[in-house]
Amino acid sequence: MPENPYAWIDKALTTIHKANWHRQVRAIASKAGPVVELEGRSQINFASNDYLGLAGDERTIAAAVAATQQYGTGSTGSRLLTGHRHLHRQLETAIAQWKQTEDAIVFSSGYLANLGAIAALTNPRDVILGDEYNHSSLLNGAKVSGAAVYTYSHADAADLQEKLQQYRCQYRRCLILTDSVFSMDGDLCPLPEIMDLAHKYSAMVMVDEAHATGIFGNSGSGTVEHFALSDHPPIQMGTLSKALASLGGYVAGSANLIDFLRNRAPSWIYTTGLSPADTAAALEAIAIARNEPQRREALWHNIRQITKKITEIISPVNARLKLLPSDSPILCLQMPDAQSVVAAGKTLQERGIFAAAVRPPTVPTSRLRFTVMATHQQQHLDSLLAAVKSIASH
Ligand SMILES: *Cc1c(COP(=O)(O)O)cnc(C)c1O
Repeated sequence: MPENPYAWIDKALTTIHKANWHRQVRAIASKAGPVVELEGRSQINFASNDYLGLAGDERTIAAAVAATQQYGTGSTGSRLLTGHRHLHRQLETAIAQWKQTEDAIVFSSGYLANLGAIAALTNPRDVILGDEYNHSSLLNGAKVSGAAVYTYSHADAADLQEKLQQYRCQYRRCLILTDSVFSMDGDLCPLPEIMDLAHKYSAMVMVDEAHATGIFGNSGSGTVEHFALSDHPPIQMGTLSKALASLGGYVAGSANLIDFLRNRAPSWIYTTGLSPADTAAALEAIAIARNEPQRREALWHNIRQITKKITEIISPVNARLKLLPSDSPILCLQMPDAQSVVAAGKTLQERGIFAAAVRPPTVPTSRLRFTVMATHQQQHLDSLLAAVKSIASH
């Protein structure tokens, strides 16, 4: 009998279990919002990326329903064949206007936007420099491109400069890749410094605005607006799936860049266009995000309150807990080890709080990760603070 060629999978799974790395899905049984029903229990939601609370908004839902009735459920093909509707172009135009760029292109997810754009912009004659904490889609985009890849220390412009000095001249093109808001820590990249260095060393920059779009800048367009870099912007990518409450990703930039991507990004050319429902929901979410700055204000109000109060709660009672520095709706309470973070996650769940217990290897240090929403009410914040207090006093 020849050996079962799939037997290795059983062994690999056993190893995953032994290392405590096994993950499982958990079903939410209600509409998106600050309170959800999870495994038969109502939970206050501090785990979602729906920062502005638009995924359950009646207007985004109505837009998705109307588009489905008009066009059907699927886009039925790739954008260059049968998958293109006027809706897609409207969405791309709305993104470009918001970002103050000449044009934009919408991919079927943010992950695909990064894979496609990075691979189109660089190849094995080029070098990519990326922050060590970059999102998986940036890392894999860099791999797919075949370019030489080097990482620099997290948010460290001085180290980036050293790497540019060391490697830039050995390669044809150089692309610097960074998250603008880091998804597992919530801090910001030093974008103005990165742009200065890029100019000095003739490097392209692509910034991943997944957790910044809808949240940073006066109009909510992201950190490029926040740092007033719109006159000489980096290539801006982002997702429609977080504050914009839908599904899909985008790249915004010059008309030539976008036209080039339409011709050279395989993850755009050879995949099915965004569904009419997703496209219409994102378009509506952008309109709301722009027209209702009070949502952003409510979000920042909540972020500031939670940050201040958690700091007040933990510092006098528990030196082993630490709120990691954050400039965003992503707040992380660092804990000494994986065991205590799992236990704390359980305590939260028992108290009706849904938050992520994040452990190595996803992140270097174990932590509870809370994401704040514009639609969290005072009573939701109070419940979280009471739960943190109980964890801190254990
Ligand atoms: C979520 C995320 C993505 C991927 O976006 P999707 O639209 O969910 O595929 C890319 N980059 C960062 C930093 C993210 O957090």
